Parts: sequence; C-alpha cells; structure tokens
Amino acid sequence: MQRIVVLAGGIGGARFLRGLKEAAPGAEITVVGNTGDDIHLFGLKVCPDLDTVMYTLGGGIHEEQGWGRSDETFTVKEELAAYGVGPEWFGLGDRDFATHIVRTQMIGAGYPLSAVTEALCARWRPGVRLLPMTDDRVETHVVIGTEDGGRRAVHFQEYWVRLRAEPPAQAVVPVGAEQAKPAPGVLDAIAGADVILFPPSNPVVSIGTILAVPGIREAIADAGVPVVGLSPIIGGAPVRGMADKMLAAVGVESTAAAVAGHYGSGLLDGWLVDTADSGAVAGVEAAGIRCRAVPLLMTDAGAAAGMAREALALAGEVRA
Ligand code: GDP
Ligand code: CA
Repeated sequence: MQRIVVLAGGIGGARFLRGLKEAAPGAEITVVGNTGDDIHLFGLKVCPDLDTVMYTLGGGIHEEQGWGRSDETFTVKEELAAYGVGPEWFGLGDRDFATHIVRTQMIGAGYPLSAVTEALCARWRPGVRLLPMTDDRVETHVVIGTEDGGRRAVHFQEYWVRLRAEPPAQAVVPVGAEQAKPAPGVLDAIAGADVILFPPSNPVVSIGTILAVPGIREAIADAGVPVVGLSPIIGGAPVRGMADKMLAAVGVESTAAAVAGHYGSGLLDGWLVDTADSGAVAGVEAAGIRCRAVPLLMTDAGAAAGMAREALALAGEVRA
C-alpha cells in the first residue's frame, strides 16, 4: 500500500486532500496539520486548519466559504455580542462551537491535542490520519508597524481576519515553535512515507510553520523519498487569500518559481506550477527541482483529483 504524507494548512490543503483521496483510493494518507493558526476565543481552543481539513474530508464543510460548517447558524455569537463579549471579528457558528467545546473539555481533562483530534475524527471519518504538527502550543504572530513608528506583534488571526492583511507584515514569528516537539506519529509517518506532498497551502504560515517545528524539516529532507509540491501562486498572485503578504514578509516574491526556490532543492524534488506559469518551468528545473506545468485550479473535486494524479506522477518520475 502506498503511504502518502501531506503537510496541510486549511482550505488549499483540504481541497487538495479531497482530490488526493479520489486519485489514490488505496493509499494510506497521513496529514500533518498546521496548528500555528490556533487561537483561544471565549475560553475555547479553536484549531481552524485542523477543522477545515476534518470538515472538508468528513462532508461537513461550508462549501462556498471553504471553512466553517455547512447549514450553520450564529445564535451563540449574537448572544455573546448582546453581552458585549467579543471578539466579533471571528465568526464562530453554533455547530462549530460544539467542536471547540468538545476539544477544550478534553484538553482540560488532560488529553493532548493529537488524541483530541483523533476523537473528533471518530465522528467525521475524514478517511485520512489527521495529526496536528505538534501537541505543544505554537502561535503564529505577525509583526506590523504602529502609528508612532514602532512595531507590535498581533496574533495571526487578528492580522488575517480583523486587519485583512492590510498593514504590511514586517515579520512572521511562529511563537513557541522552537520548543515544540512533533506530535506522536509525525516523524514515524514521514520516515515511513513513500511520497511526501506539499499541497497548495500557504508556504509561510501553513507549510512554513509546520516546517518550523524542530525535526520535521530534517525528517522530510532525510526521508529519501520524493517530495513534491503544488504552487498556491498562479500568475503572480495567490488563488485566494493574501499569501502574497506573507511571502513579502519573508522576502519572497509572489511567483510560482520563487515559492519553489523558497522551499529549495534541499527539500523539494518536484514542483507543479499552473499552465499559466509554464514560462517558469525551465528556471525551476535549473534550480534542481523537477517541474511541470499543469492546470492547478481546484474548481471541483475532479480538478483537485487531477492535480493529485499529476503530483503522484511527478513523484514517480523523480524517484526514477
Ligand atoms: P488556509 O489555512 O485556509 O489559508 O489554507 P491553506 O494554507 O491550506 O491554503 C491557502 C492557499 O491555497 C492560498 O495561498 C491559495 O492561493 C491556495 N489555493 C486556494 N485554492 C487554490 C486552487 O484552486 N489552486 C491553487 N493552486 N491554489 C489554491
Ligand atoms: Ca490557516
């Protein structure tokens, strides 16, 4: 059986995974999920990226939005607002609240996040093994300028959701990452993988944060198996969201080729760019990364499955 490890953020990772399940129905897929976006709200621990993967693969996602639950209502949020209790900028729906209540209750009872995630997945049956990158607390903070010329750090969610990534990001810091340990199962899955994939997730705050947990980057580089990524940047801009702002903060241009270079040939063996970026192929190959231009828009599950097939085919090529 083919063993595939995928490092995943939220929407880009989840939609790709849905395609990968269709493209490789017999494979054993382990997902290492980003937890740097996690935030405590109303006393509850919220794990946006893990939940997006879980809901998307488990059939509970709000399809158009790409995150949150389908058939959602917002009574609790309205009641909290009536008490003047915020933040009001983070939309938690009633169904979603239940997930965070269960998670927080289990963590309070002493279970690590990995065990909690497994318990939540017992309901959703995502068809993959979903592991948080770490059981330790890691929080991505973004450094922005203040009006008086100083600097301040804000939680990634505040930067992304409340500030809509408008203030230029001077730095992105995965607070706590240096002391974090990979969650149980992460390093074993990487060491036992036949293929490792980077879906079109945010290279800085999703995949970059996972790679910042000591041991994970090294394990991937040492696994001795093909590592293939798919560009989240098409035609010089993110397909959705504001990944360009995060790339600028780490000094990387928002192009498919620059993202490949950012990961580097020490980590990546293969890289898929969109057909719109076919002009970038030669440069990426010159940098020592096998590259192909294929359609990379996940317009539906079938398109995502096509991308997953291309990624696995490229992995087969670089192995040879
Ligand atoms: P987040 O945690 O919800 O932001 O999701 P991820 O980190 O997994 O993925 C975000 C990235 O997915 C963004 O940079 C988008 O450009 C990228 N993305 C979203 N949809 C598509 C798509 O259809 N094709 C490609 N190539 N990238 C996509
Ligand atoms: Ca995310």
